[in-house]
This record gives sequence, structure tokens and C-alpha cells, in this order.
Amino acid sequence: MALIVQKFGGTSVGSIERIEQVADKIKKFREGGDDLVVVLSAMSGETNRLIDLARQITDQPVPRELDVIVSTGEQVTIALLAMALMKRGVPAVSYTGNQVRILTDSSHNKARILQIDDQKIRADLNAGRVVVVAGFQGVDEHGNITTLGRGGSDTTGVALAAALKADECQIYTDVDGVYTTDPRVVAQARRLEKITFEEMLEMASLGSKVLQIRSVEFAGKYNVPLRVLHSFKEGPGTLITIDEEESMEQPIISGIAFNRDEAKLTIRGVPDTPGVAFKILGPISAANIEVDMIVQNVSHDNTTDFTFTVHRNEYEKAQSVLENTAREIGARVVSGDTKIAKVSIVGVGMRSHAGVASRMFEALAKESINIQMISTSEIKVSVVIEEKYLELAVRALHTAFELDAPARQSE
Ligand code: ADP
Ligand code: ASP
Ligand code: MG
Repeated sequence: MALIVQKFGGTSVGSIERIEQVADKIKKFREGGDDLVVVLSAMSGETNRLIDLARQITDQPVPRELDVIVSTGEQVTIALLAMALMKRGVPAVSYTGNQVRILTDSSHNKARILQIDDQKIRADLNAGRVVVVAGFQGVDEHGNITTLGRGGSDTTGVALAAALKADECQIYTDVDGVYTTDPRVVAQARRLEKITFEEMLEMASLGSKVLQIRSVEFAGKYNVPLRVLHSFKEGPGTLITIDEEESMEQPIISGIAFNRDEAKLTIRGVPDTPGVAFKILGPISAANIEVDMIVQNVSHDNTTDFTFTVHRNEYEKAQSVLENTAREIGARVVSGDTKIAKVSIVGVGMRSHAGVASRMFEALAKESINIQMISTSEIKVSVVIEEKYLELAVRALHTAFELDAPARQSE
């Protein structure tokens, strides 16, 4: 008999019918003899609706109060599922994060899980109950409700699996696994049988929102067997594994991630003296703005250009900080661009293959797509391009790296 943690995402519990379907599925699992802890998201669209309500009151809701409101979405679905299970004769009980006691730090809206009390859950499992837990939420040491950041139910699932030493954490969603790239953008995307934690972490960090980044970090750290599956279609899904050898389906790259979340800022005519990067980025970091990619040009006339990217939400704030800096250091101009996108190729196979970046650049050149910035790590290459070429770039790279699925059979 295994202990499985199953997490169902927003679309999978998006209506009463879907919740009834999830209950049918869980009943079947129970009949198979496994112990189950089920983590749920809010109904799809609900978290956005709640945030929107708050924003109708104020542009900048107090983070603590925002957590009080957004955590209600999950409280609705857990109770409904528990009722649906009981209606089917399956003993069940629902708990909010506070009731379990999923202890987090006090960083409202992006809290980190510190500790999970497993006593109640274990007692319920021993009594034969399915335990249904609200995802995305916890409580801090002062009893304040906290939430874990968008998509945070994945992290609740993995953290519970780690705390309970579950045999597997299964993430049920609206796709049947992790694909080579977002299947909504590239029809030829292919499901991966396996992907390493390291690759999945890069994919998630670079924009593939199929799993929340922290859930992958957690799974890697505590070695939680993690699988992504379709909620209502049978299939093996995708296993996230530590084993590089085993996961090597693709010799070079495993997937392509992309995001439209960043904006670019350039400061020109910067006096090229030691410490200048610090003078530019120091005030940006002091304003709590995270910088992603950075490019500094070679010096020309003893001045240089300096370009970096920030989250699009922080673009205006970063721009005004940079304009101040420009005045202080005597730089010429500050310019910016919000219509950019970042495309990244990811794969542990890159480590042992030379020329991966140039193959990427060649594929983009063939489509006449201009590369504005480049960054690389051991297992990824990212480029910034004009946003309007994003889909074209992803498709071209998908083909160039031989990731396209064989012609799809109609379902
Ligand atoms: P849930 O509500 O179940 O948490 P999400 O919307 O958070 O679901 O995640 C599933 C979605 O992630 C898919 O519908 C898909 O469009 C998107 N996605 C992005 N990149 C990938 C990828 N590489 N593989 C699979 N799905 C991806
Ligand atoms: N309901 C939350 C969100 O929409 C958490 C989650 O679904 O994972 O972000
Ligand atoms: Mg999600």
C-alpha cells in the first residue's frame, strides 16, 4: 500500500462537474488500496477574481489582507471535494493550511514553507480517511494567513509529500505531462517521458509555468518522486527525476521555455570607469528590483552602453531610478523597451555538446530574427528578441533541435 499526494489544479476543479469527476477518480484510487492526501487549487479564474475584487478597493492592497482574501478560493474547493467523496461513501476530511499547520515565514503573497505538522493528517490516514488540503496557503508564527505565490498549490503538494515521505507526488493538470515546449504555442510539442529536476527547474524559472519553481526546488531538495499527469486522461505523464542518464531522451536539449515578463533598459554614454556597473545596478537593487540579464558594451570614446532586463511590472520604477543615476554619473540617455521576449533552450545534454548556442543563433538567423541579448549557463542558452517574433522563434528552434513530434494522430 502506497501513500500518494495528488494535487489537482484550477481547471481540474473548475466546476461542480469536474469536482465530481475528481471524486470518482479518487474513489477508484482508494479502492486500489492507496492512502491519499489530495491538495487542491481554487476553481480556475477564482484567484484572479479575488485579486480583482481587492484591486477595486485599492491599487495596492495590503499584502496581509490580500492573503486573507485570496486564500478563500482553495477553502471552497476542498470542502466541495470532501463532500463529494463522502457522498460516494469515501470517508474524507478537508483542512485549510492553518488547520494542518503548514507553517510559513511572514512574507505575505510569496511565503516560504518552514514546517508541516503531519500529526493530524497521519491520524486521519490511519483512520482510513482521504485528507483534502487547501493548496497555496499556510500560516505564519503569529497566526496570520499567508500564501505561497501564484501557482503555489504545486508547492503545497510537494512539501506535503516530503513531510509525509510519500511514495509519489502526482500533479494533475490540463496537459498530460511536461512537453518540449508549451503545447498551446507549438502544436508539434512532444510529451517527455522524463526530465531531470535540474532541467525542470530551468524550464520553470525561464517561463514554463506548468510547475511552480519552488515546487521543483522542493522536490529536488527532498528527493520527492514527482510526476505531472492529465487529470482526466489515462497515461504515464512525465516523471521528474534526478537521474540524468535515465532521462536522456534528447541528446542535446530537452525543452524550450519562453516568457514575455521582462522589459529592457539601456543607459548610454556611461563614463567607462571602475565601479560603474555598481553605480548603475546598486540603486536598482536598493529599490528591490531584480535584474535578470545584463550586457555591457566595449568602451568607445571612453564611454560605454549598459543594458539589463527587469520584470515588466517593475519597468517604470526601474526607469525612474536609472534616470536619476544617469544624471548623477553624467550618462547621456536612458532608453527602454517593453516589447521583448526571452526564449531559452534547456538541456543537460548541452554539457557534452559544443556548438549548441551557434545552432540556436543559426536557426534564428534563418528566420531573420534579431538577437538583442544573450545569456548562457551550463544547461541553458537564453536570448532576448522582439516580442512579435516569439512564437516564430520557438517553433523554429523546436524544429532545429529536432524536438517536433511525429505527425499527431487525431485523438
Ligand atoms: P494548473 O491550473 O493545473 O496548475 P497550469 O495552468 O498552472 O495548470 O499549468 C498547466 C499549463 O502549463 C498547460 O495548460 C500549458 O499550457 C502550460 N505549459 C507551459 N509550458 C509547458 C510545458 N513545457 N509542458 C506542459 N505544459 C506547459
Ligand atoms: N489558486 C492559486 C493561483 O491561481 C494557486 C494555484 O492554483 O496553484 O495561483
Ligand atoms: Mg499551476
